[in-house]
Amino acid sequence: MRLKLEIDNRTEYSKADLRRIFLAGMRQLDITHRRVLVVYSRSSSVTGWGAYYGTATNWRQQYGQHYADGRYHVKMRLPRPGRASDPARLATSIARVWEHELWHTKGRRHPAMHPELRWCHQPVPWAEGMECRHKEAKSVKPKGRSRKGERQSATAAADAAKTDPRLALALRRLEQAQAGVARWEKRLQAAQRAYARGEDANERSHWALEQGKAERHLKKYRQKLRRYERRVLELTPHEFAGVAAGGGR
Ligand SMILES: [Zn+2]
Repeated sequence: MRLKLEIDNRTEYSKADLRRIFLAGMRQLDITHRRVLVVYSRSSSVTGWGAYYGTATNWRQQYGQHYADGRYHVKMRLPRPGRASDPARLATSIARVWEHELWHTKGRRHPAMHPELRWCHQPVPWAEGMECRHKEAKSVKPKGRSRKGERQSATAAADAAKTDPRLALALRRLEQAQAGVARWEKRLQAAQRAYARGEDANERSHWALEQGKAERHLKKYRQKLRRYERRVLELTPHEFAGVAAGGGR
């Protein structure tokens, strides 16, 4: 399968490194052609936007000028070197956000995403060993103490993200809330169908009660969902920033 990838790279990150990550992600999702704009982020995180490719939406309103004419499918914002919250795992962060945005370009929206994908915590084994080098970083060659210090702080940040039990708990709760919403949506629909088919007043009143029950549970789980979305947002500011922007929900 021949892949077509057009990168408008307005950073000094290696285009070859970016290409390697982007192509690997496209292969994962069976995507053959994408145009991507890469710019610097004002924050310390990788952030992104993905257009709901092929869906009828007002592009200008939803995605801003870059998307008004459909020039780009995805916009990626990368932190400037030295500003990245987790430089050692920059390629991994890019891969995660990239995969998330690619799903948007296939029309997938947040409620239909697994929480890990939705919050860009998903494993990306296809990007293992990849890197994203920066021009300055290559020529400057920091040595000795500064380099070691950088490596240590990066490791500490990675460990903190991995071992934050509050985040792990919030993600688990979020997942439970999503499952609850899905479960009660299904039951509500079933009750509505049964009500419509109901043969007598007795049967219909039974299904009317079931509908009310399903609606109450649905409301409760939707509230939970919103609460844990906010919680995960609080606990993972750098990863989330990209996801929040992505898709322009
Ligand atoms: Zn998104």
